[in-house]
Amino acid sequence: MEAMKKMTTRAIVNIGQLVTGDIYQPLSKATAIWIEDGIIKAVGKEGDFPLGSADMVIDVQGMTVCPGLIDAHVHNTLDDYAPQQREIGWMENALLVGVTTIISEGEQGPGFPRFFDDAIGSKATAILAKRVFDRFRPAGALKMHGGALVLVNGLTRDDFKEMAEAGVWLVAEIGGGGLYRPEDIGPMLKWAKEFDFFVSMHFGARSIPGSSTVSAAEILALGEDMIDKIAHANGGSTAAPWDMTLEIIEQTNIPLEMIHNGNHKMMHRIVRTLKERDELHRLVLGTDCPTGQGAIPNAIMRTAVFISAIDDIPAAQALAMATGNTARIYGLNTGFIQVGREADILAIDYPPGSVGTNALEAMENGDTVGVSMVMVDGNIVSVKGRDGRPTARNIKVNGKELGISNINDYLFGPPNPGFNVYEATFFGDGKPPRVPGRVPRKRA
Ligand SMILES: [Zn+2]
Repeated sequence: MEAMKKMTTRAIVNIGQLVTGDIYQPLSKATAIWIEDGIIKAVGKEGDFPLGSADMVIDVQGMTVCPGLIDAHVHNTLDDYAPQQREIGWMENALLVGVTTIISEGEQGPGFPRFFDDAIGSKATAILAKRVFDRFRPAGALKMHGGALVLVNGLTRDDFKEMAEAGVWLVAEIGGGGLYRPEDIGPMLKWAKEFDFFVSMHFGARSIPGSSTVSAAEILALGEDMIDKIAHANGGSTAAPWDMTLEIIEQTNIPLEMIHNGNHKMMHRIVRTLKERDELHRLVLGTDCPTGQGAIPNAIMRTAVFISAIDDIPAAQALAMATGNTARIYGLNTGFIQVGREADILAIDYPPGSVGTNALEAMENGDTVGVSMVMVDGNIVSVKGRDGRPTARNIKVNGKELGISNINDYLFGPPNPGFNVYEATFFGDGKPPRVPGRVPRKRA
């Protein structure tokens, strides 16, 4: 008879600043979080919780706590390697600096059937990638949403139905490869919507061979209800002209993605404009990694720092663009420090010597902050990234300080949190990891 698995309980205490993930209520006065079996059960004060009964009390010693970061734009292949960069473990690298969820914008690998007339190949790739990442969490924890369908000639309503039944729910950025003209994709988008796919649209100049220039006219012709996100609104990596970008901002309410591997001047103009329009809820962050531009582990945090420091956006709001905003538009049950959400949580801190006296002040001053704890589904998976930047303070787990001072551990890791992550998390019972939760999507 299978033994009943005991419930795991965690308490996070002594929180200095609690970043909620909510763009319009970005900070909470709460100082403690109670977690059961990987789900946030309560957010409040230390005295509210039976700390003595928790399996693990995590004292963050006054650091800032925020939701795990979400990268809304990557071009993964199957499993955790990047053929363009000849790099193995790029997803794990991102996890160790705080990226707990990654979303595919279309699988790319040598010989992948993503172009033109190979409907069965395109469909098979989407299903295979979805299935791979349902069973494989990079570094045992990262939530990778793979399986983004590239639209090609010959896809039918039955194909969309079959893919939806197989779990596929993402349409890869339209124009990043495959079809993009409204007359070609119009019927497919109707099927995509019928089966509740999330639809993303490449915007601006062509990037790789097979990609296309997508202008504001094409997006407006499709209609804003057909499109859930403008991918790399700041260029991927070449930006569209400003007047065209402004048309999208002013004539639609479509969420806009800012990417690290894009045009930073355009990012600045878009963020400033949305701030003036009081529409910061439309912004989400991505990387467009890995490409020839690189797979940069800290790219999401660096983008949040850029937006906060250069555009005078409170750091807690910049972090919401990389957490709650993304979770809301994609319908992911993460991205917020909120009861019922999956406990994907970071402790971040100012780097020693920064003029900021906490992570948020450091970000507002342009300093890249460090991550002292990465938690996924209530389990600590790292206590300091592979040189994700040092933190002034460390977490304490059940009274014991967990920091990395050994240069080899610090640079080359993976930093050992002091217990067996794999046993504590997903593989101990011999079952595949649970598929990350979904909730209804909301644009605003
Ligand atoms: Zn693109």
